[in-house]
Amino acid sequence: MLSTMLAVTILSKGKTTTVTLPARKAGQALVRVERVGICSTDLALLKGYTDFKGIPGHEFAGVVIESSDHKLIGKRVTSSINFSANQENSSGHSAKHDPDRSALGIRGWDGAMAEYLVVPESALIELPDSISFAEGAMLEPLAAGIHAIDALPEGDTPILLIGDGRLAQLIARVALARGETVHVSGSNREKMDRLKAVGAQILSLKESHHVRYHRIIEASGSPSGLNSAINNAAPKATIILKSTIESDFACDMSTVVVNELKLIGSRCGDLNAAMELVASGKVEVDDLIDGVYPLRDAQQAFHAATIPENIKIQIAPHNAI
Ligand SMILES: [Zn+2]
Repeated sequence: MLSTMLAVTILSKGKTTTVTLPARKAGQALVRVERVGICSTDLALLKGYTDFKGIPGHEFAGVVIESSDHKLIGKRVTSSINFSANQENSSGHSAKHDPDRSALGIRGWDGAMAEYLVVPESALIELPDSISFAEGAMLEPLAAGIHAIDALPEGDTPILLIGDGRLAQLIARVALARGETVHVSGSNREKMDRLKAVGAQILSLKESHHVRYHRIIEASGSPSGLNSAINNAAPKATIILKSTIESDFACDMSTVVVNELKLIGSRCGDLNAAMELVASGKVEVDDLIDGVYPLRDAQQAFHAATIPENIKIQIAPHNAI
């Protein structure tokens, strides 16, 4: 096997460069990356979010090439993204709040925007043949969407979803698959049309001023989203926060107090739950992939990911479907 590979690094500003092939330690698997998705976190990392300088990419699917466990070799896999010495299971739940954790392609661990990557064997999740590499690389954001919905109280009132981007599209699909009524407040016409096509109800600005919701998910990625959520919240409503806003911003906290609102942050979810939804056909994800680029064209891929109409852009380092 070669000793170098192509990879995108944050230091090279998203350009593809030649780097050393990652060295596998005992208990780790070397994975050939077949698909890796670009998400908002990757775009933020390129702009300097956190001081991570390595290889980005945490939404991936690939094939195990080397492993201490011979049964794993040749398996089609993805993995959870939070690695910690205290890892209890592959869903990453125990690892994600460990202050000493590494996060794939985000914090202290090189990610999947490369020909190969190394991950702990305990973090691997085997993909059934019915799930393509493209779908496999969508499981991580889908799991985050499931986790956001799971944090809402149960009820028969509509869910207000604020936002129409990558994550909002997945959240809407999961909620609709569960039989929820989803009202969406967003700004991009094409993205709103795609939400409508899968059964979400589009809220006009006028309507949104009058309706109060008990269950709200804020996934707009913009500071104004939280204020919209607060303004549309019924007393004692629950608001799930999915947007990570780097900068400080003002929001109407007095309304939160007066209306006794619950604000709940939400991060990564259970990849096995995401896999089940896709494998059972309850949630379709591959139609959200608007472009696939070879690794050498990573900069074009990043550019495509910033075009508002595009939902998910993926990179195929070995040109697999
Ligand atoms: Zn992501």
